Amino acid sequence: MHKLQMVDLKRQYQKIKSEVDTAIQHVIVNTAFIGGPDVHAFAKEIAEYIGVKHAIPCANGTDALQIALMALGLQPGDEVITPSFTYMATVEVVLLLRLTPVFVDVDEDTFTMNLDSLKNAITDKTKAIIPVHLYGQSANMEPLLAIANEHNIPVVEDNAQAIGGTYTFSDGRTAKTGSMGVISCTSFFPSKNLGGYGDGGAMFTNDDALADKLKMIANHGQKVRYYHEMVGCNSRLDTIQAAILRIKLRHLDEYCAARSSAADYYDNAFKNNPKITTPFRAGYSKHVFHQYTLKLNGVDRDAVNLALADRGVPSMIYYPVPCHKQKMVTDLTSQAFQLPVTDMLQDMVISLPMHTELTEEELRFIVENVLAVVNG
Ligand SMILES: *Cc1c(COP(=O)(O)O)cnc(C)c1O
Repeated sequence: MHKLQMVDLKRQYQKIKSEVDTAIQHVIVNTAFIGGPDVHAFAKEIAEYIGVKHAIPCANGTDALQIALMALGLQPGDEVITPSFTYMATVEVVLLLRLTPVFVDVDEDTFTMNLDSLKNAITDKTKAIIPVHLYGQSANMEPLLAIANEHNIPVVEDNAQAIGGTYTFSDGRTAKTGSMGVISCTSFFPSKNLGGYGDGGAMFTNDDALADKLKMIANHGQKVRYYHEMVGCNSRLDTIQAAILRIKLRHLDEYCAARSSAADYYDNAFKNNPKITTPFRAGYSKHVFHQYTLKLNGVDRDAVNLALADRGVPSMIYYPVPCHKQKMVTDLTSQAFQLPVTDMLQDMVISLPMHTELTEEELRFIVENVLAVVNG
């Protein structure tokens, strides 16, 4: 058996090697390294896939979030509501732009934004809400959007972990994650569900004026070359990455299905174990399992993490310190946030290997070892 990894990108590459190698070679031969036809084609193809009018590629998912907040015209001191139970990048861009992060709690089953906590956090200074589709499951967007609309606050989706996922509205209509916010952001970091072979990201919107603005900000604040209308940044998707992502996008649904069937295997193996809570699958969401994350009950989670490593089973804690407790945040704000669910989850969650190439033999080995360690 292979040495187990959290994410095995090598075996995935081997299956698409000839396609990918040809595409990379093509970019090099054409020496169109910046912009170029692959970037435009990829933007068009991914916009179609997500079901939005515009996709604007950029350098990474963090830039996507930053540019989205800049395009909304937010000013220092404006409040932005985000969960604390997320990757730091969601919050870092808020701080970088001198905006004020307002942290809300998550639901203990879905790990996504708690709507009562959201309602309580809204003030007349709230200028954006960033729900995060954590671990591959959509936040509960229909009521969330209703709350946002009632207060006229734009929603920016952080879809870095859930590309390929869907949300089902109460009338039966479905929408891809990343198509519901005023702007949505995603990342093509290699280990993400649609990962390149380096950094990459994109923003999505149905609004023509916002699309122009996002494009302009990502390109030094210029629409016409050398005429700079506003402060922007330099954030581009490499052509080589776009060429690779075009190929991988065609496999994305199949990749999501492979993740989902690995999740089914895990679910089945861990069901009825009182010490293990398997990921909740909300009825409104098609979970795409960026992570497969258990909650451990009455077990020393950190000891389990170490014991699994000794047995050759990698596991990760996403994330060991919630954002509101990070020094980056506490150094800048004096506000104390009461987030009991986030604080509780911080000590319970553990993520197991999850990728598109897990074999039954590997899954069996992981499961046997998890059960042996957890049951003691
Ligand atoms: C990965 C990730 C990002 C940032 O993406 P990068 O491409 O690494 O900059 C932002 N938010 C979440 C939730 C992520 O998982």
